[in-house]
Amino acid sequence: MLSEKTSSFTFASVVVTAPIGPHGELTYRIPEARQTSLKPGMRVLVPVGRRKMTGIVSGVSTSQNAVDEKNLKYILDVLDEASVFSQDLMDLWQWTATYYLTSLGEMLTTILPGGLRSESTRVVTLLKKSKVKGQKSKGKGTESANDQEISGEQEAATTLNVPKLSNAEQVLLDVVTEKKRITTKALGQRFPTFPVSKILLRLEALDLLKVREHLPQRRKAPEEDLVSPLSGAAADAPDGTNVSPFTLSELQGAACKHIISALQPSRFEVFLLHGVTGSGKTEVYVQAAQAALLSGKSVLMLVPEIALTHQLVARARQRFGSQVAVLHSGLRASERWAEWQRIARGEAPVIIGARSAIFAPITRLGLIIVDEEHDGAYKQEEGVRYNARDIAVVRGKISACPVVLGSATPSLESYVHSQSQRYTLLTLPERIASRPLPEVEVIDLRREARPSKSNDKLGNKSDNVGRIFSAALRQALEENYEAGMQSLLFMNRRGYANYLQCRLCGEVLVCQQCSVTLTWHLQDGRLQCHYCGFSCRAPERCAACSGTKLEGSGIGTEQVEEALKHLLPTVRVARLDRDSVRKRGALNEILTAWHNHDLDVLIGTQMVAKGHDVPGVTLVGVLLADLSLNFPDFRAAERTFQLLTQVAGRAGRGNDPGRVIVQTYSPQHYSIRAAVRHDFARFATQELRYRKQLGYPPFARAVNIRFEGTDGDKVSAYAEQFAEKLHAVIDAEHTATGSPGSEVLLGPAPAPIEKIKGRERWHLLLKGEQPRALHALIQQARQELLAHPVRGIRTIVDVDPYSML
Ligand code: ADP
Ligand code: ZN
Repeated sequence: MLSEKTSSFTFASVVVTAPIGPHGELTYRIPEARQTSLKPGMRVLVPVGRRKMTGIVSGVSTSQNAVDEKNLKYILDVLDEASVFSQDLMDLWQWTATYYLTSLGEMLTTILPGGLRSESTRVVTLLKKSKVKGQKSKGKGTESANDQEISGEQEAATTLNVPKLSNAEQVLLDVVTEKKRITTKALGQRFPTFPVSKILLRLEALDLLKVREHLPQRRKAPEEDLVSPLSGAAADAPDGTNVSPFTLSELQGAACKHIISALQPSRFEVFLLHGVTGSGKTEVYVQAAQAALLSGKSVLMLVPEIALTHQLVARARQRFGSQVAVLHSGLRASERWAEWQRIARGEAPVIIGARSAIFAPITRLGLIIVDEEHDGAYKQEEGVRYNARDIAVVRGKISACPVVLGSATPSLESYVHSQSQRYTLLTLPERIASRPLPEVEVIDLRREARPSKSNDKLGNKSDNVGRIFSAALRQALEENYEAGMQSLLFMNRRGYANYLQCRLCGEVLVCQQCSVTLTWHLQDGRLQCHYCGFSCRAPERCAACSGTKLEGSGIGTEQVEEALKHLLPTVRVARLDRDSVRKRGALNEILTAWHNHDLDVLIGTQMVAKGHDVPGVTLVGVLLADLSLNFPDFRAAERTFQLLTQVAGRAGRGNDPGRVIVQTYSPQHYSIRAAVRHDFARFATQELRYRKQLGYPPFARAVNIRFEGTDGDKVSAYAEQFAEKLHAVIDAEHTATGSPGSEVLLGPAPAPIEKIKGRERWHLLLKGEQPRALHALIQQARQELLAHPVRGIRTIVDVDPYSML
């Protein structure tokens, strides 16, 4: 915690979210009245150029290094009574800025909810003490212009030990007395020539009035909306009630005990909870969280996507009632800020959120849980490209508390750490109640008899049934439907067809702005670019040859739905993908129907693979396992294994056993074979061997540096220049240390998607064993290149990249 020393400081460094200088940090004078009370971690209002901005105090001092002390401006207003950033959050802020090669300012933009920038209202009210005095002076104060006189009378009129007020101070105090309640903004408008903030600070320091920050009321709706499908009894549970927990299974109990042992006294330890799907990981989290709360600590639970991980939210709400704060993207900026303050004040010691919640201003943090730790959603792909799972470990270390990383398919990074004992491995190898893992069959699509179009008498539509579903899957779907059970179909591509092609001239319709094909969405009859959002009506004729034989290629979820309706005309089916949940409330509607068994079949993208615990699901069909396998990315096999295991894990979670059918053109691929056997260790062994051979993570660290600009030649030239500089820096470093070093630079090369939104893209990949060394090299190359800036080129540095597209 921050020290409670009352020494007085005269200067403060303040970080604002505007892009100013390389660090985003500026120095200000602290108003006299605030010199003892201003602390790092408080929000302040500061002048930046002509604007006023909110910033966070990053440090206070009695001296400052800038030469021009006289020209320093004053902090205009202090917005918090106490620090909103605790010391450990300050440390985390610093650490992440350094690690992700960014500035404190940019990092602050990432950390803070937008609410900081949207102005909350600050309301001024009188303090009791001043009432007497204020009223007495009221009459005269408003009619007389002579400040000396008023102040003199003031002094005499009150027995309170109040120093002289200036005219302006008195006038302001009078207005507040008259109005009882007024916003700082209104005061500012009424007295444009007064330094209102400064005056208020002084009156506040004299205990005459109080300035309170008011935030717009929290909207309840989105949160309720968010958890309704699964919460069931949770909604009825009164706040704080403990709905009786399950008796943990022996394995759950053992895992829980290990975690709890690190709670008191609190120590940093990372646990990898590797539990198969349906093994009861959630219950372990909840009971460990309960123990942390009992020892007076707060718990942070991260989930990959709030909307798709209802279960943990519902369970936590059920157990911890109003102690739970949920941070999610459905909150408005101001609501998010309100939630932040509730957390900072310690009113909600259970914090659940998606990746950005890792920066929540939690006090007395005692336990961090990262559910589905392998999930790519923990990696932010814009702005500062941080990975919340990795930061969770750092935060645990800073706060000296245990961190639990849970998954049925741990990331290889975490797995390797558990093998080397850096992380403590806890395993739940069986499902609850000894339910069997589902049986997985692989269908080799190369051998599947496909109805040829010309010979098919049934016409085009039912033709699709044969193209999409293998005989085995067709039969299984029919049987499962007859039996009144639910089936889940996984197709990791939305839209109707991947692209439209002219059958006469071969022309493929591509996006003008991006080097990708346009996806055909039949539902709204449009072509869409999934990268830039461009959309247009699907044309009737080929633009190249005017032919009318445009045909869709590559199956998407819409087409699966259509084919299924042909196969089972009376089926109750819904689609779960980004298109179908675009409308507010749609996601909930679909999931509720699915949970209530009002749907027989759910078709969806990877959205269906995540954490739904629906006991009626006994059949899972994976329509094309190859989609994720053919990605130009070193993690393609790992992602395929994870997806298959997760989606298969949705089957057989109730009393009836589950069955999984995987269709693929690569049945021999090790990731598919291992997934079929539920054999994580086998997959990991194989995959780690490849990674080691190729020098990829987790055996090396990587930084991807991407260059973007509208002028392709300029972009490639700059990429070359950057590469040269980096080579030089690396060579110099190796010569200086006399060792060959582990750093390898790949590229420059065009990015797999060469153009997005009209910007040409090139990239470089730097690999090496020591992340610090990599970062230092890049930093140095970047510094040297700053001397010769090239206009129109954007450089994006991605530390520990996840998507290489
Ligand atoms: P995972 O997160 O590992 O996939 P869940 O936490 O969803 O597993 O648990 C699977 C199912 O088992 C859930 O329906 C849960 O309510 C139930 N369950 C968990 N622990 C127990 C227990 N100790 N006794 C009985 N049922 C349990
Ligand atoms: Zn596009």
